[in-house]
Amino acid sequence: MSRRTINLDDTLYQYLLDHSLREHPEQTALRQATAAHPLAGMQISPEQGQFMQLLVKLIGARRTLEIGTFTGYSALTVALALPTDGRILACDISAEYTSVGRPYWQRAGVAGRIELAIAPAIDTLDARIHGGEAGHYDFAFIDADKSGYDAYYERCLQLVRTGGLIAFDNTLWGGDVARPSHDDDTRALQALNDKLHRDERIDLALLPIGDGLSLARKR
Ligand code: CA
Repeated sequence: MSRRTINLDDTLYQYLLDHSLREHPEQTALRQATAAHPLAGMQISPEQGQFMQLLVKLIGARRTLEIGTFTGYSALTVALALPTDGRILACDISAEYTSVGRPYWQRAGVAGRIELAIAPAIDTLDARIHGGEAGHYDFAFIDADKSGYDAYYERCLQLVRTGGLIAFDNTLWGGDVARPSHDDDTRALQALNDKLHRDERIDLALLPIGDGLSLARKR
């Protein structure tokens, strides 16, 4: 028994995966294909993806945003949890990385649910706001450049409906957020965590899953 979150050693983490993970075969295949990539650490862990699928289903999400798609594992994961008419607007600046995921999206039968926007995410989000889509989205996942998180958050807060959810990846940042730092990414995440903590526009949880996952429910 403990009053704090349990420590996961390798054995217990493997147990957790063995006794809960329910990946689609194309998720497993895309995860394995991405593991060889030099930036593979950018991909979310499979249990975090499955947790996000549960969240998406719990809130009945149909329209979702993703800021930072990389090779497309999280987009595939969320798309599999959406209804057949559900949509993800996936924002990324790299056509090269995101092209890795497309064949997996197609084989999983969810490519039609994923609209890829290759452009700076701020431009894409601002265009959607100005296009009248404020309040039209149910869920947003922010997992891109850390110095941009606050700007993405403010846009997502406009685009997501009341009761909708914004998830931020990497908010514990390998533990670095808890120590003084001169690193720009670390300082951006520290400032974001401080802001979210006192932000009255949202309900908040910060979960020690993956590299830290903050959940903000729009009030
Ligand atoms: Ca990440």
